Amino acid sequence: MEKSSRARIAIDGPAGAGKSTIAKLLAKELGVDYVDTGAMYRAVALKLLRTDTDCADQEALAAMLAGTDVDIDGGHIILDGEIVDGLIRTPEVSALASTSSAQPLIREKLVALQRAMGDKKSLVMDGRDIGTNVFKDAEYKFYLTASSLVRAQRRAAELAEKGIECDLEQVKADIEQRDWQDSHRALNPLKRAEDAVEIDSSFMTIPEVLEAMLDVIDR
Ligand code: C5P
Repeated sequence: MEKSSRARIAIDGPAGAGKSTIAKLLAKELGVDYVDTGAMYRAVALKLLRTDTDCADQEALAAMLAGTDVDIDGGHIILDGEIVDGLIRTPEVSALASTSSAQPLIREKLVALQRAMGDKKSLVMDGRDIGTNVFKDAEYKFYLTASSLVRAQRRAAELAEKGIECDLEQVKADIEQRDWQDSHRALNPLKRAEDAVEIDSSFMTIPEVLEAMLDVIDR
């Protein structure tokens, strides 16, 4: 990647494939910003919960969104001026983000914000529709995947580290449910962009995945 030129690097893929871990490292390595778009959908889901807004009521949803400010600053996700990094990682918010992200009004608002971020500078952005929708003309596109069993094992290990016990089968079922929802929604579903480089990280270490991406970018 040439230092002087703007580059938008899109990383898409299913839940738990390691996108945010890799995207963060890649952004650091390249000295550019990292934008976690999943965190933006999660922040809106948190606001839906807090305001008890029903997505089926489009007028109420539009009014709620008009009074909602979502931003990413210094690695923090900010909802209406409040840092909500930890609050958006609960199972309740994960589940609601996955269904509410199918709402056109929500996608419209967040995609516009994401495009504005990429207009200004180079960045690494991860999500589900970055290479297929947000930046169809991204300079680099990756589709990072892993088997649902491996993704569930990684998630269970993360939870175990935090002292939270869980049932692997349940974690795997939750992941598969989210994959299904994300890839079957009408608007901007999760799918690999035709021109994305696919990386299956099931049997790769984090440094190996990073190396594979840097190889593509440097070439
Ligand atoms: O990546 P993460 O699991 O944090 O994303 C939370 C939810 O946000 C996903 O389940 C997905 O439904 C939604 N999402 C999306 N488009 C993106 C990023 C995330 O629809 N670009």
